[in-house]
Amino acid sequence: MLYLYYIMSTIYDKYEVVIGLEVHAQLNTQTKIFAADEASFGAAPNTHISAITLGLPGVLPKFNGAVLEKAIRLGLALNCNITPENHFARKNYFYADLPKGYQISQDKLPICTGGFVEITINNQQKKIALTRIHMEEDAGKNNHELDENYSLIDLNRAGVPLLEIVSEPDIRSSDEAYQFLTEIRKIVRFLDVCDGNMEEGSLRCDANVSVRIHGETNYRNRVEVKNMNSIRNVKRAIDIEVKRQIDIYESGATIDQETRSFNQADGTSFPLRSKENAHDYRYFPEPDLPPVIVTENDIQAIKLSMPELPKQLFDKFTKDYHLSDYDAYILSDDKETVSYYQELIKHTNNFKAAANWLINEIKHYVHEHHLPLSSFVVKPIKIAEIIALVDQNKISSTGAKTVFHQLIDSPESSAISIAENHNLLQSNDDNELKNWAAQAIAQMPEKAMEYKKGKKGNLNLFMGIVMKLSKGKADPKLTTKILEELLSQ
Ligand code: ADP
Ligand code: MG
Repeated sequence: MLYLYYIMSTIYDKYEVVIGLEVHAQLNTQTKIFAADEASFGAAPNTHISAITLGLPGVLPKFNGAVLEKAIRLGLALNCNITPENHFARKNYFYADLPKGYQISQDKLPICTGGFVEITINNQQKKIALTRIHMEEDAGKNNHELDENYSLIDLNRAGVPLLEIVSEPDIRSSDEAYQFLTEIRKIVRFLDVCDGNMEEGSLRCDANVSVRIHGETNYRNRVEVKNMNSIRNVKRAIDIEVKRQIDIYESGATIDQETRSFNQADGTSFPLRSKENAHDYRYFPEPDLPPVIVTENDIQAIKLSMPELPKQLFDKFTKDYHLSDYDAYILSDDKETVSYYQELIKHTNNFKAAANWLINEIKHYVHEHHLPLSSFVVKPIKIAEIIALVDQNKISSTGAKTVFHQLIDSPESSAISIAENHNLLQSNDDNELKNWAAQAIAQMPEKAMEYKKGKKGNLNLFMGIVMKLSKGKADPKLTTKILEELLSQ
């Protein structure tokens, strides 16, 4: 068995995986790209369908400027060049969900060219180059399941704006593809460009996959795999496709360029079309829309309105606030967490304690209660109050947790008043502490002897007694110091 595994793994290891991704991000604009219909998801079928969406004769499209702004925001965040003069093109094909018989897209002059997405793989940074990002309209949606005799068409989605992000074939494993998509999803959410929901289809990904023997310089034929509804399923579909291709090459056959559809239920895929029946889209310039001009001033204005991005935040948190990579990663992962943290550190300089409270206590609490962080009732300033009380030795870390949970029940109270009411304020009075410490030692003279002979662990026994005597109010750090002093006499 082990031997067989060895042979198998060497066969697969001989091959290098080559992947290029095409990602469609549905923009979260109010209205469609060329019509005033609502662009929102989830309305009753065929309720957002003006004459423009239906492609009725005589109507003209009008470009929605909000689409351009979002496209430029994404392009700037992904280090792209922005094209100053944009043209739309007609991409012609016949399909039931495409009322006009063509999709308005961009061909030769996409809004963004070049650029890259930075991913971390095995603790190393890697840049995945982008080919282009272009603006286009979505098609409607066919449904073959709802009715037994008919296919149903919902045109609400027709004309909803999309950005298509195309990567170079720079991705070398399904893990890299996973990271790439995770990064894109994070960035589109930060930029408020797209809600990034793969399950609802507002972020979609087609994976182009090929393999070649390590050291080969030319790429081999690729297969495009479609219809994955989560980032995990993209990774899974790639792994399955890689194995399928290697098995075919190893059997002596070759791979033809084709498009396949992935079945999430059983992990198989089936061919949709081969190269021979590939579409000829007969692209030509869209005559009904004037060119869209982007000036340097437009770009500058958009640059000024850009939020801090995860990468910049990560660098700031690690370099300026000296947080660990782990903390910085979690704190820069989504906008809500970032904004809570940024607000919190306006009120405390203890960046590490702030990170701990947010990551451990607050995030656990909201996760457990299935709440968004934005609806968490305790304001950052109250957490800063708790941190200050701990830093001043006024409450213990256990006391702090009690204050935290009390604040959740009465978020308007102050941390100090809760600490007072619950008798959590620690005694910092040296004399009182010394008294308790002396009493503790007197209760167990033989343990004190052992301590003096080297059994340092006995300190905890005395600490326990002091805590009992003080009803938990003794400050542990100070008590330790006093006990050590007394025991060394
Ligand atoms: P199309 O428009 O027909 O889909 P493109 O040339 O735009 O073709 O390529 C689409 C995607 O396929 C890009 O992401 C590109 O990086 C990727 N790609 C191209 N060749 C290969 C290959 N041999 N193996 C894997 N991916 C590839
Ligand atoms: Mg393609």
